[in-house]
Amino acid sequence: NTKPLSDIEIAQQVQLRRISTIAEKMGLDPEEIEMYGNYKAKLPLSLIDKDKVKNGNLILVSAISPTPAGEGKTTVSIGLSEALNRLGKKTTVVLREPSLGPVFGIKGGATGGGFSQVLPMEDINLHFTGDFSAIEKAHNLLAALIDNNLQSKTNNLGLDARTISLKRVMDVNDRALRNIVIGLGGTGSGIPRESGFDITAASEIMAILCLSEDLDDLKRRLGNIFVGYTFDKQPVYARDLNAEGAMTALLKDAIKPNLVQTIEGNPAIIHLGPFANIAQGTNSVIATRMGMSFSDYTVTEAGFGFDLGAEKFFNIKCQSAGLSPKAVVITTTIRALKYHGGAALNTLTVPNVEALVNGLPNLEKHLENAKLYGVTPVIAINKFLTDSDEEIAVIKELAGRLGVKVAMAEGWAKGGEGALELAEKVIEVVEKSQSSFKPLYRWSSDVVTKIETIAKNIYGAANVEFSPKAKRDLKTISDLGLEGLPICIAKTQKSLSDDPKLLGRPTGFTLNVREIEIAAGAGFLIPITGDMMRMPGLPAHPASERIDISAEGNISGLI
Ligand code: ADP
Ligand code: MG
Repeated sequence: NTKPLSDIEIAQQVQLRRISTIAEKMGLDPEEIEMYGNYKAKLPLSLIDKDKVKNGNLILVSAISPTPAGEGKTTVSIGLSEALNRLGKKTTVVLREPSLGPVFGIKGGATGGGFSQVLPMEDINLHFTGDFSAIEKAHNLLAALIDNNLQSKTNNLGLDARTISLKRVMDVNDRALRNIVIGLGGTGSGIPRESGFDITAASEIMAILCLSEDLDDLKRRLGNIFVGYTFDKQPVYARDLNAEGAMTALLKDAIKPNLVQTIEGNPAIIHLGPFANIAQGTNSVIATRMGMSFSDYTVTEAGFGFDLGAEKFFNIKCQSAGLSPKAVVITTTIRALKYHGGAALNTLTVPNVEALVNGLPNLEKHLENAKLYGVTPVIAINKFLTDSDEEIAVIKELAGRLGVKVAMAEGWAKGGEGALELAEKVIEVVEKSQSSFKPLYRWSSDVVTKIETIAKNIYGAANVEFSPKAKRDLKTISDLGLEGLPICIAKTQKSLSDDPKLLGRPTGFTLNVREIEIAAGAGFLIPITGDMMRMPGLPAHPASERIDISAEGNISGLI
């Protein structure tokens, strides 16, 4: 009756391999990687192999609409990649970097769980190789240049401060900084104006870095960041402030993906991580290509449920980078489906076939959505100790009826051994090449059509309504010549609709677009539906209260 080991306890029992050993396993000379101590390294962009990228097998791990508990996409991604390696497929898992917001807040880290983790989890979860800090500095440099320009007599672009939407960023949840007044203290201390802080993962620079091809492309995109308007309605971009050179210089190392290892000693690449609700929610194009350069199979994860993460992964990232995923794993948990079927959060560990059956339409919708992209889905049931055999049978029966492959994913309890069945099914899909990826819309369609295509086909909306502000934004987008950009809808992850309370598979609803933000640097348009949180707060008892370090330097309490 002993308490199961916590994630950090499991992680600390593992004898880490030197990162040079992992590099050798990938076929690299350790001289070719840039060491950050013994267990972390940066991978220079010159290691990307275009032919391997073109011919490699990319697997996306997504999920049903998530519940407050998290569905285990990261854990399943790691377990699956361990299992693929066990089956003789050279595999790399490519993931996002954790943000300190959730590490110190409610959810905890993002390095997987149980026996499916990436290591060293303490380092990865606690500001790692400094990528987020570099983004913060580059972002705040631009913010400082803007306020300096407002102040300057000799170099004043005539920016109307009321049109500036760029805030400052920081990688800690701090609600007190959401809305602030800056520039107080008299004429020498700037022009007073309303502003605030977003969390670093919400920075447009995070989104930009994740879509950039190389340093030149990064610089071009940074220069394209839309800052605001002059008093005579001329658009101002970061390049008008000559900001992009110095910003790119600050990001010279952050652009390189980070190499670490899994519990079973396989390579893992961890790189960046934009919000999945307001941005594209997936690691960098460069990291994905790097993974594919060394692997037969590359497993990656996109944030939140399929409707947000996979939709943006396919339509924005894959179209932008010319990637063709060969399979999509839809992670589901019995707990979450019961929640979608009306069971209360505190009853999810009790068997309840009726609620589970009621919740199945959520899973069914995400499976249908995967097929809209021509990518064959495989259901992964992320097994929790409280799942009953009767409940598992219900999902298998649904899968049989729909002709979709399904497997238990027990990577959390058993590591790669527990995900062999899932890996076999993924290999079957890939090797019979049952997928032929096609995006849902073409970037060249008009903006309203693109938004309606996503809302009706993926969310299941009956129609889309545009507020007067959103209609004005459509006009601005056309005035700026940005109609050809892809769409990155900001929506709650809790529901397929824009109403977080509508669980399961809602129908007949209207999607309400309040406004449309322009991320000209990242290269997408953000229709905003509902309230979007860009600077989360901490709970009454933050996870940070449990985190400690001993005199010997051993960290405890990270979850
Ligand atoms: P996601 O990537 O979908 O947000 P994670 O993989 O990060 O989810 O998992 C969320 C949390 O749930 C982690 O703390 C992880 O340890 C835990 N977890 C995941 N799978 C299981 C499982 N099968 N049993 C118990 N806990 C799990
Ligand atoms: Mg995750």
